[in-house]
Amino acid sequence: MQNIGKTDPEVVAIITSELNRENNNLDMIASENYVSKSVLEASGSILTNKYAEGYPKKRYYQGVGLIDKIELLAIKRAKALFNAEHVNVQPNSGSPANIAVYNAFIGANDRILGMSLNQGGHLTHGSPVNLSGKLYDFVEYCVDKDTEVLNMDEVRRIAQKTKPKLIISGYTAYPRIINFKEFHEIAKEVGAYSMADISHIAGLIVGGAHPSPLPFTDFVTTTTHKTLRGPRGAIIMCKEKFASAIDKSVFPGLQGGPHEHIIAAKAVAFKEAMQQEFKDYAHQIIANAKTLAETLMERGIKLVSNGTDNHLILIDLIKTQSVGRTGMGKQIATSLEEVGIVTNANTIPFDPSTPFKPSGIRLGTPILTTRGMKESEMKEIGVLIAKTINNPFDKIIKEKIKVRIAELCKQFPIN
Ligand SMILES: *Cc1c(COP(=O)(O)O)cnc(C)c1O
Repeated sequence: MQNIGKTDPEVVAIITSELNRENNNLDMIASENYVSKSVLEASGSILTNKYAEGYPKKRYYQGVGLIDKIELLAIKRAKALFNAEHVNVQPNSGSPANIAVYNAFIGANDRILGMSLNQGGHLTHGSPVNLSGKLYDFVEYCVDKDTEVLNMDEVRRIAQKTKPKLIISGYTAYPRIINFKEFHEIAKEVGAYSMADISHIAGLIVGGAHPSPLPFTDFVTTTTHKTLRGPRGAIIMCKEKFASAIDKSVFPGLQGGPHEHIIAAKAVAFKEAMQQEFKDYAHQIIANAKTLAETLMERGIKLVSNGTDNHLILIDLIKTQSVGRTGMGKQIATSLEEVGIVTNANTIPFDPSTPFKPSGIRLGTPILTTRGMKESEMKEIGVLIAKTINNPFDKIIKEKIKVRIAELCKQFPIN
C-alpha cells in the first residue's frame, strides 16, 4: 500500500488494523473466507476504470474488447466448474442475484415457497423487511421439530397445498446435506420453477464434497465470496432456455455497469477452484467441522440436528446445560470474541426469542481451513470454545484461553 500510504494514511491505518484483526483472531463466521493474493490483485486492478453496460459483443460503450475477453473467460470457467448451461457473472452480490431471478420469472403477488430467515433461510427468501417479502407472496417450509432436519415429505405436502410458482432451496444456517434432486422433482410435480441458492456451500459443491443442484435445477444463484473463496459478488446459473430473460433482468432490469475488476477476480477464483488443492480444501472444511462438532458435543454443547455434514455448526444455547436460557446468543458471542474467536449470534429453528436476541451461535470452518488448520487444531479449538461457553464470565479462564488462541493464530498466519 505504498501509494495510499502517502495520500491517505487515515485509511491505511484502518486497513492495517483490520489485517491485524484478521490475523490475530480465529474468524469462524460461516459465511466468510480469506481470499488469495491473486484474487485480491484482480479485485484491485485497473479494470475498475471501465464502463461496460451490456454483455460481451453487445455493449453500450466503445473500448470494451478486452473487457469482453475477461467476462467471457469468467463465464467459460464458471460453466465448466459448475456444469452450467448459462452463467451470468454480473450480479454485484447474492441479494441482487436472487432478486434478479424473481424479477425475471415471478409476477407481483405470485407465490414463492422457501425457508424463512429464522429457520435458516436468507433475507431475500421472503423476509417481511426485504423487498422479496414485500413484492411476493412467500410461504414457508420448516425443518422437522424433533430431528431439526428437512423432511422432504413435508416439503412436498406444503408445495402441493400452496401451489407456488417457485420453490427455493439453499440456506444460511442449515448444517445438513440438501436434497436438491428432490426439491427439483417436487417443483416439477406442482408446476413450479426450481431455484437453489447455494451461496454458503458453492465451494463444497465444486470441490465434490456436497451434491450439486446442476445441471437439473432451473435457476442456481450463488455468492462467490463464501466457501468458494472468491471476491465479494455473485453469479446466476440457468438453463439455456432461461438465459435471455435472466440476462435482461440483471441488466438493464436491476443493475447498470458491471464491476469488471470483480468479474476478473471471479475468473481467478474459478480457476483456483478447479485445482485438486481446492477439492482437498473442500473436503478438509467438512472434516474440520465434523471434528469440531464431536468435540463440542462431548463437552455438553448441544448442536442443532446433533452435528453437521457441511462447513457450519449451529449451537443451541437453550439446550446447552451450562447456559440453559433463551436469547443468550449475543452474550456468548461477545465472550467468544473476548478470547479471540469471532462468531455470530444466530436464531435456531423455532427460536422462542427474537432475531435481535437469538438463542444460538453459528460457527464455520472455511477460514480456519484456509489458514491450514486440520483435525488436531479443531479438537483443541473445540475444547477452548466449550470452555468459554461453559464459563462465559470467568475472567481468569478466559485470559488463559485468549493466550492460547493468540499462539494458534501466530502458528497459522494468513498467507
Ligand atoms: C449470503 C447469502 C446471500 C446474500 O449474499 P449478499 O452477497 O450478502 O447479498 C443470499 N442467500 C444466501 C443463502 C446466503 O447465504
